[in-house]
Amino acid sequence: MISKNLQHIKSTLPEHVTLVAVSKTKPISDIKEAYSAGQRIFGENKIQEMVDKYDALPKDIEWHMIGHLQSNKVKYMAHFVNLIHGVDKFKTLKEINKQAKKHNRVINCLLQAKIAKEETKFGFTFNEIENILTSKETAELQNINIIGLMGMATFTDNEEQLKDEFLSLKTFFDLHKLQTLSMGMSGDYKLAIENGSTMIRVGSSIFGHRNYNQ
Ligand SMILES: *Cc1c(COP(=O)(O)O)cnc(C)c1O
Repeated sequence: MISKNLQHIKSTLPEHVTLVAVSKTKPISDIKEAYSAGQRIFGENKIQEMVDKYDALPKDIEWHMIGHLQSNKVKYMAHFVNLIHGVDKFKTLKEINKQAKKHNRVINCLLQAKIAKEETKFGFTFNEIENILTSKETAELQNINIIGLMGMATFTDNEEQLKDEFLSLKTFFDLHKLQTLSMGMSGDYKLAIENGSTMIRVGSSIFGHRNYNQ
């Protein structure tokens, strides 16, 4: 099922769009199945879970941290993480830089922009992102590389609203010389791609629904 889902999704993606397979809460066996089908980029939202999976699985997998970050846990993934999507505090950026330096690495990061109308979604305002991208303090962080932005739209079926939210981020993204725009999940990735996404984070459409009551 997993490999079929993957093939189906991949066949619909434009070439410039990268698929992150979101494997949070799913067992190693599911990731192995996706790996056998050729998938190499996986996303997790809990650092400990990602570390355990990294240890157990082939080392040519690219691991993306897509969840909300606690600064004090950055150190556990600094030796291997490929891209951190959800940076929403300058303090976190400094901590990533510090931990990356210890491993002689440059860690790629995306700044999370708040585009949803909901209170619960994390992220910077466009103004704050503007300040971070242009500040001297950021330029001094030599072990991080801000390669783009990440956004999560409101949880709604209203396509007009989703489109507005994606387009607002795409418009802002285009003002800066950035490579990666991470937006779109199982329910809204088609719309996200139509509105400029270059990286989608898809979980349940690949692995099936998650069971959180374990
Ligand atoms: C869980 C999660 C996803 C994937 O969600 P699906 O609806 O299962 O595709 C994408 N992005 C983030 C930040 C997530 O936490």
